[in-house]
Amino acid sequence: MIRPFLDLKVENAPYRQEIAQAIDSVLKSGQYIGGEAVERFEHNLASATQVSHAIATSNGFDALRLTLSAMVELGKLNKGDGVIVPANSFVASALAISQCGMEPVFADVDPTTMNLSAQTILKALRPTVRAIMPVHLYGNVCWDEDILHVVQKHNLLVIEDNAQALGAKSCHSPGINGTWMAGGLGHAAAVSFYPTKNLGALGDAGAILTNDPLLASTIRKLRNYGGEDHYNNELIGYNCRMDAIQATVLDAKLKHLDEINLHRAKQAAIYNSLIINPAISKPQLPGDGSHIYYQYVIKTPKRDELKSYLQGLGIGTAVHYPLPIHKQPCYQQYSDLSLPEVERLSRQILSLPLGFGVDLEYQKFVAEKINKWATI
Ligand SMILES: *Cc1c(COP(=O)(O)O)cnc(C)c1O
Repeated sequence: MIRPFLDLKVENAPYRQEIAQAIDSVLKSGQYIGGEAVERFEHNLASATQVSHAIATSNGFDALRLTLSAMVELGKLNKGDGVIVPANSFVASALAISQCGMEPVFADVDPTTMNLSAQTILKALRPTVRAIMPVHLYGNVCWDEDILHVVQKHNLLVIEDNAQALGAKSCHSPGINGTWMAGGLGHAAAVSFYPTKNLGALGDAGAILTNDPLLASTIRKLRNYGGEDHYNNELIGYNCRMDAIQATVLDAKLKHLDEINLHRAKQAAIYNSLIINPAISKPQLPGDGSHIYYQYVIKTPKRDELKSYLQGLGIGTAVHYPLPIHKQPCYQQYSDLSLPEVERLSRQILSLPLGFGVDLEYQKFVAEKINKWATI
């Protein structure tokens, strides 16, 4: 029997009562899409992330697409523009850029943070680039003075992919507006509430965060067929709204986000102290709130061997992500591109289990087995 990497039933169990009450309130309200429950969640999400506008959406991918489309609608971006994106992200980051008629400009990452750095951004920079999409991969905030400086010097738009770091804050430098929370560092941010994320819904859901009122109102229109009111379509929009059920469930869980994030941070620190195999490279744990440990990712050159060794002992692990985006079949035209750090990481990374389904005993068991693993 293999213990799964993640069991969502267990992750939601502590909040079962609150979730059931939330769902019942929606059932009784008769308002199932948008409405008060969604507005309440938007309000609470905006205050939790210290931004002036939160717009609830159907999922994180649509949040990215709506943000980029609204920027095109407002003339801030044009079709054909380049948007720098790290090639080790989840594929959705790049797909959103392509679907909005722009070009993903794949960048390498810093091998320690596994995120974009000022250096890798500058290396990817070319005249067509008008924006960057920092991805706070694994929950680790991608932001510092040097990135801010590059953004200001080259007048770049910043669209954060904050699918993995809700509740984290930048600890090196404030964002372009002087605030510190992930999701408020750039011009806009996309959030995902996919069920596996630290703040997970019971289905698909996402949100956009921004301090720009015009961008927010344009996104609100695009979210609802191009008009905020019924039967008044100003723009060629989409249907990317959030269900009321997801909004109330998320609103109930949002109160516990810090507790969820802290629990994972503690578990990450435990792994870091227990794992002592020299063949394993452990993640840097800033310990200052700039990492919320969506994933705890170790590295080893013989990753596949380690993964199957652990699997043989009943320990489920995961790889986020096994194939860099520029090597995906849908991006064939970029397959000759060489991004050495991203490509090396894709062969070396392994995510260990975290969350409420993992107790100290299991962490000790996992660490002990990893410590006993010998590479020949
Ligand atoms: C989960 C995720 C997305 C997509 O979010 P969905 O809600 O699944 O559409 C985008 N980018 C990153 C980095 C993600 O982890």
